[in-house]
Amino acid sequence: MATPYHLSIVIPVYNEVAVLPQTYARLLAVMETYDYELIFVDDGSQDASLSLLQHWASLNNRVKVLAFSRNFGHQPAVSAGLHFAKGDAVVLIDADLQDPPEVIPAMVSAWEDGYDVVYGVRQDREGESWSKKITAYVFYRFLRSVSDVDIPVDSGDFRLLSRPVVNVINAMPESHRFVRGMTAWAGFRQTGVSYRRAARAAGESKYPWRKMWHLSLDAVTSFSVAPLRWVRRGALTVAFVALIASVLLIRQKLLYPHSLILGWTSVMVTILWLGALQLGAIGIIGEYMAHVVDQVRQRPLYVISRAWNFDDPSLPVTAPLLPRSQKISGEG
Ligand code: UDP
Ligand code: MG
Repeated sequence: MATPYHLSIVIPVYNEVAVLPQTYARLLAVMETYDYELIFVDDGSQDASLSLLQHWASLNNRVKVLAFSRNFGHQPAVSAGLHFAKGDAVVLIDADLQDPPEVIPAMVSAWEDGYDVVYGVRQDREGESWSKKITAYVFYRFLRSVSDVDIPVDSGDFRLLSRPVVNVINAMPESHRFVRGMTAWAGFRQTGVSYRRAARAAGESKYPWRKMWHLSLDAVTSFSVAPLRWVRRGALTVAFVALIASVLLIRQKLLYPHSLILGWTSVMVTILWLGALQLGAIGIIGEYMAHVVDQVRQRPLYVISRAWNFDDPSLPVTAPLLPRSQKISGEG
């Protein structure tokens, strides 16, 4: 029996021919009881991935394929899938089976319980190098500590998003997209389901260090202005050091005029104060930069998740999302 709602599964694919047949089979098995579409986004694969996808699309009209003209990257691929997904909820999942499709039903039931974002939390990572595990561990915690929004640690892009959240993400016009951060920014009711992150079923990682580095930079610069603020703190620290050192050096010079090399005091004091002044000036520019960056992103000022008793068509239509037991029973 098909469900009363429609689900979209978005799968970014870059040179995954070695694993795609398994992925497809496992997705079909898991999704059997749902009404769904599979949106494969081919991110400019150079192997036979696309012809395989085309073949499946010709046999099964639930398979939809978007092919990029070249490799644009994982985040743009996911964004395209979100854009064209028709579902009442959309699941993002990697093609390499590191995110087990069998977790999807748990995500769907959390969504049925009223959550808008259900992200997968990695309990364990199999088959990944120590260096990748450690950098990921440190990076997620660093990002969480500096970012302005609440990005859950140890969760990747494997997640379910309700239609309202997908609409918000689609409305965010920024070009450096970090979908996890954007989901966190959107707000709504969020929860996690934990799973064991499997080893890649076949093929190798399409995320070399270079791409990971860019993703991390996008994450930090899109969701934090903390690095700009550090400059200001640095300036204050240097100014403080300059003040103390100036007092000590001048005192030394006055009390024991011949104890220091000629000219050293004036040079030191000048260098310290100029350093503080320059850092301070950069810090001020940084503050303005932070505002410019915010303005240029053109994110919506706010997101309304529900509204009652308005008849404005741009507002979300709301059925009260109360658990059955709490529903108002006649009075009032
Ligand atoms: N991917 C993509 N474009 C890229 C790199 C990766 O669409 O430029 C896809 C890839 O096919 C996979 C997902 O993004 O479905 C995650 O990539 P991968 O498994 O290589 O990353 P890792 O798990 O090693 O971080
Ligand atoms: Mg992977």
